[in-house]
Amino acid sequence: MKMRKTTAIILAAGQGKRMNSAVRKQYLLIAGKPVLYYSLKAFEESLIDDIVLVAGNGEIDFCQKEIVEKYGISKVRTVTAGGKERYHSVAYGLAAVKWDCDYVFIHDGARPFINASIIERAFLCVQETAACVVGMPVKDTIKLADKDGYVESTPNRSDVWQIQTPQVFEKKLIATAYEKLIAQEKQLDAANVSITDDAMVVEYFMQKPIKLIEGSYENIKITTPEDLKMAELFLNV
Ligand code: C5P
Repeated sequence: MKMRKTTAIILAAGQGKRMNSAVRKQYLLIAGKPVLYYSLKAFEESLIDDIVLVAGNGEIDFCQKEIVEKYGISKVRTVTAGGKERYHSVAYGLAAVKWDCDYVFIHDGARPFINASIIERAFLCVQETAACVVGMPVKDTIKLADKDGYVESTPNRSDVWQIQTPQVFEKKLIATAYEKLIAQEKQLDAANVSITDDAMVVEYFMQKPIKLIEGSYENIKITTPEDLKMAELFLNV
């Protein structure tokens, strides 16, 4: 059987405005190392063949020297510039994959606690389903709000998942979905649809079921200052 080739696109081009910090959240230190280091290291030590690192405009050299080279992340084949929204950064990351690749793992560089077993679970699943995303069942009751801030409805808690990354797809499927998205970006904007993950792009533009698989409750995204305290707890520092 042909060996399946895998590429991880690791996103680190966000502004991190919710962190209220002068340093972008992907470069803040946890236990002396930048947030971004941890996810790069996890993919480096996993079954993944290649990594595309998507960095902020003007931060490519910094990422290459101060993170990729400094920590010896040898699977990074290219560091490419991101865009205004997360989905722009993903589109640029996909365009940078110019080598043999069957499956793409799209991961938030701000999620340091991804690990090899989640990556393996996702890889096994995507080979069956072509599209799968990592998440966890919610612990709290979720309510949908109306535009005035009143409760509109309460979905059955056992049906609600909180979505994480990686989100993993056949390369051709996700590349086609993103091409369609970029072609119709203005219409979606006009309809006030904001694309916040990759599965949404497949949901909108491709007829393909997306399987949910378990990540972990520790696979948090570092977004606000209290997340850094959680991260230190998880690392036991
Ligand atoms: O903004 P959000 O929390 O959804 O960001 C998730 C991930 O996407 C982060 O790792 C962030 O650096 C990345 N991102 C990006 N380009 C953007 C916005 C976010 O690479 N324009």
